[in-house]
Amino acid sequence: MKTDHALQLNPSLRDVPVYQPGRPIEEVARELGIDANDIIKLASNENPLGPSPMAVAAMEKALQQLHLYPDGNAFYLKRKLAEKLGLEPRHLTLGNGSNEIIEFVGHALMTRGVDVIVSQYCFAVYPLITRLFGANLVTVPAVEYGHDLPAMLAAITPQTRVLFVANPNNPTGSLARREDIVTLLNETPPHVLLVMDEAYIEFLDDPVDLLPFIEREIKPNLLLMRTFSKIYGLAGLRLGYGMGHPELIASLEKVRQPFNINSLVQAGAIAALDDNEHVARTRANNFGGMRFLEQGLRELKLRFLPSAANFVLVKVGDGHGVFDALQKQGVITRPMAGYGLPEFIRISIGTPAENARCLAALKDVLETAS
Ligand SMILES: *Cc1c(COP(=O)(O)O)cnc(C)c1O
Repeated sequence: MKTDHALQLNPSLRDVPVYQPGRPIEEVARELGIDANDIIKLASNENPLGPSPMAVAAMEKALQQLHLYPDGNAFYLKRKLAEKLGLEPRHLTLGNGSNEIIEFVGHALMTRGVDVIVSQYCFAVYPLITRLFGANLVTVPAVEYGHDLPAMLAAITPQTRVLFVANPNNPTGSLARREDIVTLLNETPPHVLLVMDEAYIEFLDDPVDLLPFIEREIKPNLLLMRTFSKIYGLAGLRLGYGMGHPELIASLEKVRQPFNINSLVQAGAIAALDDNEHVARTRANNFGGMRFLEQGLRELKLRFLPSAANFVLVKVGDGHGVFDALQKQGVITRPMAGYGLPEFIRISIGTPAENARCLAALKDVLETAS
């Protein structure tokens, strides 16, 4: 019987793109009929060293209290995080991943008829949330795959509500120039929320430090976002945080679900913040892995974009074909057609053994194809 489509769905849903996540190891194993242990995943910029052991131990302890609701204000986590950042808890809001913070921004500022500015090749969740709230997406062309910050500033109109910048950017790995960031901060008008997504900032040697603007409470239209998904190795736990002026934070807190940060997250994250050794090992592994991969890609005569993060965008020709062939060899990478980069794949830095295996598979795939 033919179903009658009587539901009057929100019209904005029609234009919401479907997010394509990296493929889980178990799913690929099932599909290819191979052992999950023979598969490596370099598709989602996860931490190849795993979660912080201190975080895991703290969560094991917290398991015994799962019958209780979590602390809805995450008092101890916010206090710990604030201390680490040199801020106060009133400067912080916590999300189920920083993806949820992006959604808070949508609830607080986006509606039909307003504009949201992003760069070409931006993080996929910005357009997704913008469309979900029925706002207009203004996409500013990239320059050499990076953000054109002056052009993004010039795109601001009275209708603009939000401007998103990821620095370093995902999926390109590009890093904005310090002068351009300073200009952006100085010249973004007060009616526009400037969201600086710092998901990969902990991988940088000399990052532009925007925390003083938060601490001194002098930029009511600046929101910084960071995450526990990347350097802390807790992507599966889902925790991100926003930092801003207390008035902005109070507005974002209003749209937050009361118990969005569960008790395991709170226990694990508090412990992870003390695990400096895990962070240091992660950075060292990433630095070494990046140099190794770059060298290998040069030997394969493949073009890649210089990356400041924990992944690299590689031009392979037929991106989907190469992704597919690598996957058949048990190496999951990320095809980039969805980002308008059909000739590229994105490879996350793995352990030394994973990086070597990925390069060998890539060599094999390219030789077979030619
Ligand atoms: C990975 C990533 C995030 C983190 O998302 P979570 O929801 O915290 O896992 C945010 N922004 C960018 C640009 C990213 O690449």
